[in-house]
Amino acid sequence: MHHGKDYYQILDIHQGASDKEIKSAYRKLARKYHPDVNPGNHQAEQKFKEITEAYECLKDPEKKKLYDQYGSNWQQAEQFKNQQGGAGFQGHFNQNEDLFENIFSGFTGDFSHFFDNSDLKHKTNITPPKDIIKNVDVSLEEINTGCLKTITYTALDPCKSCSGYGKVKINKKITCQTCHGSGKVSQFPGLAGKCPTCKGSGSHQTENCPSCRASGTIATNRKVEVSIPKGISHGKKLRIPGRGSAGTGMKMGDLYVQVFEKKHPLFTRDGDHLTVHVEVPFYEAILGSEIKVPTLEKKLSMKIPVCTQNGQKFRLNGKGLPNLNSSKGNLYVIIDVQLPKSIDHENTQLIQEFKNNIEEKHAQ
Ligand SMILES: [Zn+2]
Ligand SMILES: [Zn+2]
Repeated sequence: MHHGKDYYQILDIHQGASDKEIKSAYRKLARKYHPDVNPGNHQAEQKFKEITEAYECLKDPEKKKLYDQYGSNWQQAEQFKNQQGGAGFQGHFNQNEDLFENIFSGFTGDFSHFFDNSDLKHKTNITPPKDIIKNVDVSLEEINTGCLKTITYTALDPCKSCSGYGKVKINKKITCQTCHGSGKVSQFPGLAGKCPTCKGSGSHQTENCPSCRASGTIATNRKVEVSIPKGISHGKKLRIPGRGSAGTGMKMGDLYVQVFEKKHPLFTRDGDHLTVHVEVPFYEAILGSEIKVPTLEKKLSMKIPVCTQNGQKFRLNGKGLPNLNSSKGNLYVIIDVQLPKSIDHENTQLIQEFKNNIEEKHAQ
């Protein structure tokens, strides 16, 4: 009886399935649900993790026995056994290597993170890929039209000489330094396990990659052209997949380009709407007029009515910024009525007349 997950059901096999059948069932499902085949599909990713978990257990006779006995609590049972120094420990190291090299030949993507136990990490020092964040300054004019921006930055490229593993194959056998050629290491007092470095063979035919000094990566200056979509908002991050820093085994991080909107001398932005202040002499505000209004493209003519007030707001539909619905926001025009800084004798008299006239009308 199984508690929790049914590994047999997950792999669609019967409990008496042979090793070969288990492997073939897994291979079939792994190719179907592998994240490389289903980019961005969270369900497939979950399914892939699940079948991998099931396979990792059932392919190992010891683990399978524990699973048959304890259900999905087998891992606690295994830990308990290991602490006791019991069976099930020997041969523990090389399992994922086999999985890694055989099952996925033909896949190039990053899947090591699906294996949460540390077997693979014994192979080399695994350095995870790194994401990189760069800022880019964009003007409102550029946001209005969309633009291309060149981003320069330093990142780690995978070393081609060693495919990012830091080690290269050579033609002679070198005695393993971890186990000094014995093929065994003692993990617990009195209990010898297979050497994780040489997988028990006592020697290896690899040496540190001279091109990258065994790091698997090489720092390079990069130039990436990024397309900034029109209407983008301040603070938005654009993801450029695979353009971050490499980790072990040519796995690549992503580049994130974060948009910083430059302050504009004329316009302020609110979503896809823009606001602009336009100065109008007081006499035009009183008489009504046709004024020039700046936009992000060209100047427009706009009529203001008789007795336009200071601070009065006008709306120009569709003269703002583009948005994702491929429509455009509005441009709001705020009138700043200007008074003269000085006045000559003749105009003073005219204003005086104006004043007298108004007061007379008021008195009536
Ligand atoms: Zn060794
Ligand atoms: Zn290298």
